[in-house]
Amino acid sequence: MLTKFYQRIARFVNHDELTARVLFFIVSVGFGLFALYGDNKPLIGPIRHEWINAFDSFVALVFFLLLQFFPATRKHYQQFGYALIYILNIGNIYLLYTTRFDVQYSYQFIVVFCISGWFFRKEAAYLYFFVIINVLLILVLLLAQKNSPPTFDFYATYLISAFAQFILLRYRFNIEDKLTESERKYRLLAENSFDLICIHNAKGELEFISPSIKRLLGYEPEDLIGHRPYEIVHNEDKPLIRSLVLNDPNHPSTQNPIQFRLRHKDGTYVWVETVFVPLESPDGASSVVLSQTRDIRKNKEYQLQLEERSKELERSNADLETFAFVSSHDMQEPLRMITNYMQLLRRKYAGKLDKEAEEYIEYANSGAANLQQLLRDLLSYSRITSSEIKCEEIDLNRLIADVLRNNQLEIKEKGAKILTENLCTVYSDRNLLMLVMQNLILNGIKYNHAEVPQVVISCKDIGTAVEFCVADNGIGIKPEHQKRIFEPFHRLHTKAEIPGTGLGLSICKKIVERMGGNIRLESEIGKGARFYFTLPK
Ligand code: ADP
Repeated sequence: MLTKFYQRIARFVNHDELTARVLFFIVSVGFGLFALYGDNKPLIGPIRHEWINAFDSFVALVFFLLLQFFPATRKHYQQFGYALIYILNIGNIYLLYTTRFDVQYSYQFIVVFCISGWFFRKEAAYLYFFVIINVLLILVLLLAQKNSPPTFDFYATYLISAFAQFILLRYRFNIEDKLTESERKYRLLAENSFDLICIHNAKGELEFISPSIKRLLGYEPEDLIGHRPYEIVHNEDKPLIRSLVLNDPNHPSTQNPIQFRLRHKDGTYVWVETVFVPLESPDGASSVVLSQTRDIRKNKEYQLQLEERSKELERSNADLETFAFVSSHDMQEPLRMITNYMQLLRRKYAGKLDKEAEEYIEYANSGAANLQQLLRDLLSYSRITSSEIKCEEIDLNRLIADVLRNNQLEIKEKGAKILTENLCTVYSDRNLLMLVMQNLILNGIKYNHAEVPQVVISCKDIGTAVEFCVADNGIGIKPEHQKRIFEPFHRLHTKAEIPGTGLGLSICKKIVERMGGNIRLESEIGKGARFYFTLPK
């Protein structure tokens, strides 16, 4: 009820046709009062003064009633306006003639003539009006016969006011032209836009809706003008819209796209994405909001499918990890037994078996050792996702010292040099970071044929993260292999060439990614490798 009332007021102020209704009403009442109580001097000829005013008043009243009660006539309000102006001005010219340019009527004519000009648009009607009035005035002058001083005064004033009116109207038409042109451009843009474009007033009601609403939601723009879009928002999405848009249209988040559902005319809900842009209204006082809405049903479908798939993938990954964990864990026990018995065999029958049998025992032993390493790696790989991350402040110098102590055998055996540069303190999980460092350092030594294998560990602050670099002077990796070596079991050498399980780098990648960083590598064959990884601060 109240909304309808506001709507009416808003329309009244903005709408030409409603302004015309008010003008007709004022003219009908004004001229009616003139007819009844005016200074009705006797005129030359049979027509009486008050009759003319009464006729003007009657015509204005008829037009007012037509517009007020017959909406079909509203399309012609402009033509009614022109007709009334012709009648008023011609009536005034008759008064001029019959009073011999009485001062009061002279100025009344000039005022009505000038003001009524403002009713015209830039059309032929205005020209006809101008010509007719002037021809009539000349005729009246010729017929009036008496060239009295008031006649001269009238013409002097009339010419000046006509000239002023001409200049002012030219100026107005110029502005109107520019306005129409720019309005045409924006209207074309808004009306032909594939997206739905709306303008919301300060109360959140829709003032403009582009015709694309028909395609998107099945409504005609008129169905929703004056309503709040909130009325057709899905109940579950209402809190989001309420908090972001209605409470504070200038909230910065309103400029980011918001995804929600709107009710289609057929009752179904459509996923849309909307950007709200607060606009300053020309008066600077009230704020209006422009919204641009896009159909995202297809994207939403893909997103849901993708979410479903990634959930499935997560599930199957978790299953696989549990499987790898359980099987590698359970296999360790029988494997330990095999190794123990093989060692027993070797010790007990040392020197009693022929060379070939001893060789076989050796093969079985090293196979079992390889398998043990593989199971250990598989266990660490499968534990990464499930293990809890315990972050603490870590002094990298101490962490590297610990890694070197734990692996001093391999380092000494190769005569390798491990150097550190600018190591800092980080906040991370000590065990996981140690595992990464250990894998990278040992790889730097293992895949290295230099006389003195060298690994340099450094780190650098890159804003939101710390970037680590583990660089070696080893054999290097061809660019085409650099991506794949992070995949589990992907190796570039046979076990006979260089032993390994093919899990070290994939463990590093999994740890770094679990902690929110990423790992990459720069290398050329024969020129060493530089592994870079980041950890968020
Ligand atoms: P593993 O060392 O157990 O074989 P990784 O996952 O650690 O498994 O490494 C995968 C492959 O990447 C290795 O087989 C090796 O060919 C290559 N690689 C890893 N680190 C280096 C390095 N620093 N220099 C050259 N090649 C490397």
